Amino acid sequence: MRILVVEDESDLNLLLRKVLTKAGYTVDGCFDGEDAQAHLLGAEYDGILLDVMLPKKDGYTLVKELRDKGDDTPVLFLTARDSVADRVKGLDLGGDDYLVKPFDFDELLARIRAMTRKRVGLHTNRLTVGDLVLDTQRRLALRGGEEIPLLPKEFSILEYLMRNKETVLSREQIEDQIWNYDYAGSSNNVDGYLSRLRKKIDGDGQDKLIHTVRGVGWVIREPDGRG
Ligand code: CA
Repeated sequence: MRILVVEDESDLNLLLRKVLTKAGYTVDGCFDGEDAQAHLLGAEYDGILLDVMLPKKDGYTLVKELRDKGDDTPVLFLTARDSVADRVKGLDLGGDDYLVKPFDFDELLARIRAMTRKRVGLHTNRLTVGDLVLDTQRRLALRGGEEIPLLPKEFSILEYLMRNKETVLSREQIEDQIWNYDYAGSSNNVDGYLSRLRKKIDGDGQDKLIHTVRGVGWVIREPDGRG
């Protein structure tokens, strides 16, 4: 999942990006409201961590503008203001949740999981397709009860496919979801990742779950007769 961090205190911005990256998210960071707007035009995010007091455009205005144009990307306000009126204002303008600084990072991660689950109608941190289970909190993939060791990017791609079960995802969509703007490599090699992922998930003569749709992309489907 791809998260945008908007925070003008550079130490906190850096720390948030580190914590989220370590938790397996693809993360972009920016330091003011206008830069945030530019990022939101350039990529699809699964959530925004949004400071309220920001240079150029504050967090409240940014959310109001997003919601006015029908953008429902989940927003978690990070606020130094601990007054009821400010929290009510943030939620009423279209924020999904808030945390008052200083906050605990475990709580932050739990709230991000809750906020991004809600958007796709999930109530737990487990995704399933057939006998494949992905525990997004413990970062575990299990097929038929057996753990499948995955590299971080393989896990992220599988999570993206499973969150969009039965929907074909293009190479561009996967790149956009898994690699942030800082990525400097010449090729993201989505094809290579997908082929290794398929071997790990669908190897050993099991029902095929990940399918290639030639010229379009990839899709994960319930095994035959169940989907
Ligand atoms: Ca600030």
